[in-house]
Amino acid sequence: MAILGAMPEEIAPLLERIETKEIDYANNKFYLANYKNHELIIAYSKIGKVNSTMSATIMREKFGAEVLLFTGVAGALKTGLKIGDVLFATKVVQHDLDISAFGHPFGFVPGSPVFVETDKRLNKIAVDVANELGINLTSGIIASGDQFVCDESRKEWILRTFDAAAVEMEGASVGQVCFALGMPFFIMRAISDEAGEKAEFDFDEFMVNSAKTSANFVLKMVDRL
Ligand code: SAH
Repeated sequence: MAILGAMPEEIAPLLERIETKEIDYANNKFYLANYKNHELIIAYSKIGKVNSTMSATIMREKFGAEVLLFTGVAGALKTGLKIGDVLFATKVVQHDLDISAFGHPFGFVPGSPVFVETDKRLNKIAVDVANELGINLTSGIIASGDQFVCDESRKEWILRTFDAAAVEMEGASVGQVCFALGMPFFIMRAISDEAGEKAEFDFDEFMVNSAKTSANFVLKMVDRL
């Protein structure tokens, strides 16, 4: 089972609690562990769609992962979502994929769906874990792109165009990999900022805590799988 984050802080809470063996590969580090009868492969991809595509593919093709859980932080798009809140993706979409000049919808290229659905069984387990622990967990569409969104008009556009609840930089590329390779996947995000003006300041202040919240939640899910 793969657990992927984008930044070191997003998997640090896991590495603190699980004894791992480190492997260097493809200019990155992968952490192997035996944890509660699971063979885990843990990594942070580094930021963005290309890096996360590469890591998800490696975790599947080289390390044999059969399920992927993503843990990390995101910017809130919908007004009900506040810093520290947790959500999982029902579907993922690439907000910066744009061949609309040819009459195609935003997020579309031939041969791939605009929205990729996450795994219903994993999502249900997340809901069960949240209920059990009394955690307020929401869900929605998560939009990914190769940009840190800290601009009101871009934020509004992504929200309106895709009805997305949150924005980040890796979920949809991981989704494309998992869709193509038939690997069930789950995308968990804790809110670090609200993706508007000066979001980078909130991000810097709240990222570590939100990353912890997300990682702890995903670890609880592993206990159930
Ligand atoms: N501070 C980092 C850069 C962080 S980029 C550095 O200097 O290296 C933001 C990361 O958090 C990405 O991995 C992305 O998935 C997530 N994220 C959180 N808030 C976001 C937002 N408002 N827009 C896009 N991605 C966001």
